[in-house]
Amino acid sequence: MKGAQKLRTGLLILVAVVLGWWLRSLASPPLPSAPQAAESAYGDSTYTGLWTCSMHPQVQRTSAGQCPICGMDLIPTESGSRMEEEHGEHAPEAHIRLSAAARARARIRTTEAELRYVEVPVRMVGKLELDETRQATITAWVPGRLERLFVDFTGVQVEPGDHMVQLFSPKLYATQTELLQAAAADQTGRDASRVLDATRERLRQWGLESDQIEEIERRGTASDRMTINAPMGGIVVSKYLQQGSYVEEGTPIYTIADLSHLWLKLDAYESDLPWLRYGQHVEFTTEAYSDEVFTGTIAFIAPVLDNRTRTVKVRVNVDNSQGLLKPDMFAKATVRARIAGRGRVMEPDLAGKWICPMHPEVVRSEEGTCDICGMDLVTTESRGYLSAEGERPLVIPSSSVLITGERSVVYVELDSEDGFLYEGREVLLGPRAGDYYIVREGIEVGERVVTQGSFRLDSALQIQAKPSMMSRSNLFSGEDGGKNH
Ligand SMILES: [Zn+2]
Ligand SMILES: [Zn+2]
Ligand SMILES: [Zn+2]
Repeated sequence: MKGAQKLRTGLLILVAVVLGWWLRSLASPPLPSAPQAAESAYGDSTYTGLWTCSMHPQVQRTSAGQCPICGMDLIPTESGSRMEEEHGEHAPEAHIRLSAAARARARIRTTEAELRYVEVPVRMVGKLELDETRQATITAWVPGRLERLFVDFTGVQVEPGDHMVQLFSPKLYATQTELLQAAAADQTGRDASRVLDATRERLRQWGLESDQIEEIERRGTASDRMTINAPMGGIVVSKYLQQGSYVEEGTPIYTIADLSHLWLKLDAYESDLPWLRYGQHVEFTTEAYSDEVFTGTIAFIAPVLDNRTRTVKVRVNVDNSQGLLKPDMFAKATVRARIAGRGRVMEPDLAGKWICPMHPEVVRSEEGTCDICGMDLVTTESRGYLSAEGERPLVIPSSSVLITGERSVVYVELDSEDGFLYEGREVLLGPRAGDYYIVREGIEVGERVVTQGSFRLDSALQIQAKPSMMSRSNLFSGEDGGKNH
């Protein structure tokens, strides 16, 4: 019982193998060292196309015969082959026929090629950093000595206008004295207004406010001390100097940062770039709060690639009003891009909207200007988004694609009267999108592609192709004049 079943299976496979080989030899010109195969394939008289020489393609004849140049048997031209006529536009690469039972034994699974958006999870890693647009460095604008530093530690929260530094400066004293002399001269009627204006301007450049200058003029006495206040609220993230240090014009003393907004700087792989867009939503987690999912918006994608790592810097605006996130934390981020036709991205809440080119959080449903910077809003379409529903790309599962060097091969299942015909097709693919490939050429909507078992189909064909491969290598070693023997 078992033996008979085995024998039947063996016979079926043999029949399939022979059939496949026969069909393949029809599609591709056989080599001259396999004359028997050529005869069985082209022996029938139904062929009406042109004949050519496999070594001299310029030779074209309307009937079989020998090449006038080398004397080899002529073979049918590709364009005139019967398989071509049978299957229309697709030049068949390889064919194998299976009965329904053989299909089940080979555990063949298929999926229809379909038009649909595919979601690509783009994963990136990176680090949280200070938002450079939300920090201020407190600098000495006049040479002197730091008599008092009111903030001793980094991490201290300050409010706008808080006193930060008391600076002792003989140069400031000298200039204030000049100011008072010019003001006195101006009042006694001598024309000193130009000197007065120039001195006021110098003090302003040193960071004194107009009302502070007026106060000095009213008081009538020069001071060798000035107080520097916090220009904005935030956290003191850097303290560069110790009390008593001497400073020059432009020496940094503190940096204050507003941590309610942070930047997440991510590295994106070159291959993921087609799916990343300005304004896209990003989800990320950190080690410190592994259960919490934070969100942000892509604000910048670097125009250049890091040649060493093959990655591109992506900057994400992150709201941190809760204060949980800290600069230098590592993050794992995901962008779930929905891919539409022509390489566009479908983002339901951005489709057909307007966005500020500088502030990706500013999205409006109508034309207008940004409330933050006043710039004209641009269409999200101009940033690579689909403007409305539609343009679903033709996709096939990535499991259906066999990649051999430069070529991508897909097995397509066709119905035939005695079961199924599997056609190995070379296809032109677009980028891979998660578990799918976008198809550019070679597959039509609704065609069934083999997602499971295509390796078995392919190796069956390779076994069948073996004789011609071997004769090919024999031919080449023969050309060497037998040196290899
Ligand atoms: Zn020839
Ligand atoms: Zn204080
Ligand atoms: Zn703006």
